[in-house]
Amino acid sequence: MDIRNIAIIAHVDHGKTTLVDQLLQQSGSFRENQHVDERAMDSNDLERERGITILAKCTSVVWDNTRLNIIDTPGHADFGGEVERILSMVDGAVILVDAAEGALPQTKFVLGKALARGIRPIVVVNKVDRGDARPDEVHNEIFDLFASLGADDEQLDFPMLYASGRQGWADEELDGPKKDLKPLFDLVLRHVPGPGLDENKPFAMVSTILESDNFLGRILTGRIEQGKLKVNDPIRAIRRDGTIVESGRVTKLLSFRGLERVAVDEAKAGDIVAIAGLSEATIPDTLAEPSVNEPLPSTPVDPPTLSMT
Ligand code: GDP
Repeated sequence: MDIRNIAIIAHVDHGKTTLVDQLLQQSGSFRENQHVDERAMDSNDLERERGITILAKCTSVVWDNTRLNIIDTPGHADFGGEVERILSMVDGAVILVDAAEGALPQTKFVLGKALARGIRPIVVVNKVDRGDARPDEVHNEIFDLFASLGADDEQLDFPMLYASGRQGWADEELDGPKKDLKPLFDLVLRHVPGPGLDENKPFAMVSTILESDNFLGRILTGRIEQGKLKVNDPIRAIRRDGTIVESGRVTKLLSFRGLERVAVDEAKAGDIVAIAGLSEATIPDTLAEPSVNEPLPSTPVDPPTLSMT
């Protein structure tokens, strides 16, 4: 199956969770009688408490025989370089902007990083059903914002859709049929390149997200940059300076399905996976099969800051 990895970039409250819930529903990632108990990008207690997104989330849907991994970007300025690490896993981005509010500073920060990485974002002007929506003005504001952030000609020529995530539709025209989110799915598949990574090289990936689980222990998530990985495979962790930190085996390999992570036997270059089995490895260590001696290039990890600016 083909893969597309995209980041979703939005200011808090611009409708990210609602839109992703609709993408899940419309791609049939939920059975009909299954409720969306847990809202797509809002499952962390700490986040609920604070009303902001802290941990990166991945939601995975299948459309047209293509697996679309949608990675949330942190809802604050930065978290120890997390934005850059997340962007290093994707080949495209959807910028979601409230049609009444317009682009706000948080969007600007992450968008600037995405543009600097050469990503060509798709713009979605959301909530156009709002009585106070001003979609055309907001479109112009976004164009100016792209320009002010140093976007190149290709990036400035961004594809744009109008949408109401709440009503579950996206359209190129404001007076279009307003039926469903097919135009958004189709645009992502057309506009975003596949990861184009080599499955035949030895396995290697950069650990991008670190978590700890009561049962599985330390879990490291990242995009497989090359090769394939199976449960039980021997792997090791290589620090940025080349030190081999630890050797071990993959005890559990998890891939994203809908809102959940499920155990899989095998994964390949381009997949975003979570790996259990190592206890010392951290971010941004390279995890690789034992024949690999050098770390992959990675974004340094800054000390975490909780600044909201
Ligand atoms: P998030 O913080 O970006 O994840 O935003 P949510 O999806 O939680 O939405 C924030 C608020 O905007 C909620 O009250 C939603 O019901 C509302 N909302 C989301 N999408 C739409 C939309 O398309 N139109 C309108 N009018 N409201 C929306």
